[in-house]
Amino acid sequence: MLTTGSTRREKVIAQGQFFCPQCHALRLYKHKRISEYFLLYLFPLFETQKLGEVAECQVCRTRFDMTILEPKHQVLFKVIASARYDLSHGISPEETKSRLVAMGLGDDVADMVIQMVQQFLVVVAFFSVYPLFQLLAS
Ligand SMILES: [Zn+2]
Repeated sequence: MLTTGSTRREKVIAQGQFFCPQCHALRLYKHKRISEYFLLYLFPLFETQKLGEVAECQVCRTRFDMTILEPKHQVLFKVIASARYDLSHGISPEETKSRLVAMGLGDDVADMVIQMVQQFLVVVAFFSVYPLFQLLAS
């Protein structure tokens, strides 16, 4: 009996470094092509359909659309991470803003980034002390 079917396979096309928005850090990524293969018995013979390409972070394993590697996105993530680092390490918002402006950001964009990062830090701070509130309430 002839057994055929299809199977999904992933092939690493390239690898490199990128700024992972999930890890907020520079990480290794693998550029993978996901395809469907024609299967004869248990052997994948040939590619029948390209399903897509992804950039996969090698630390958090999050998969991103390939546009993540575009310089405009990479620059934005680096700017956000830099502001986040500064603000969480006691640098004042004014000093952080002047650093962002020195990196080439406009005044209003720098304000927006700082506001965004501050809101994110408040959420992180809340969840880091939340178990303490529960303990005090019980
Ligand atoms: Zn990651």
